[in-house]
Amino acid sequence: FKISEIQESGKTVGKVFLFQDITEQKFAIERLNYLATHDSLSGVYNRNRLLEEIENALNHAKKYGEVFSILMLDIDHFKGVNDRHGHIMGDLVIKVVGEYCKSELKGKGIIGRYGGEEFIIILPQTDKEQAGKIAERIRCGIEALEINTEDKQISITVSIGVVFIGEDRSSATVNSIISAVDAALYAAKNSGRNAVCAIYNENN
Ligand code: GH3
Ligand code: MG
Ligand code: MG
Repeated sequence: FKISEIQESGKTVGKVFLFQDITEQKFAIERLNYLATHDSLSGVYNRNRLLEEIENALNHAKKYGEVFSILMLDIDHFKGVNDRHGHIMGDLVIKVVGEYCKSELKGKGIIGRYGGEEFIIILPQTDKEQAGKIAERIRCGIEALEINTEDKQISITVSIGVVFIGEDRSSATVNSIISAVDAALYAAKNSGRNAVCAIYNENN
């Protein structure tokens, strides 16, 4: 909304009231923001936004003396899913897993797609026992999922790494957290997959 005065010989003789409908622009900006921060396949946060969220969680925890946990989840033998059912079905499986995890968090955690079939979940103010339980609940829930396609049903399992970022985290960085949770995930894979494995800082 803008007002301009109409002047004649230095006198105001009228005013122009300009109303402009910017609804379309606002929607377009919102849409662009969404596309820049979300994964187009699964609808959860994309990698960039996810890394920002981990950084924020770390800064917040340091500032307020809080703890938090991070999960990294990777679909087991996913190459086999693509090989047996095709990449379109593989895409559907990634989408279902992302949506399932998001709904399972019930707004109490932040999820993003880190890579191909890997997701990271940030659990603010969550201690190691709670994080382990949440990871186990997600693992069991995904094992029980039946992903229905036109002519078949696909079942999958996931492996989950857990790290707890406790009080002694002065040297923690986004990279060190990702390395630690990646190592936990690797241990879960090595234990035979369809498993949760936690790595805790020995000081916590
Ligand atoms: P592991 O149990 O060790 O995790 O075995 P894996 O077969 O899951 O091995 P890996 O994690 O290395 O394989 C990931 C595969 O995911 C490889 C790649 O072809 C596939 N992939 C990555 N991104 C996508 C995607 O967006 N859509 C589909 N359909 N496949 C993808
Ligand atoms: Mg995998
Ligand atoms: Mg992988």
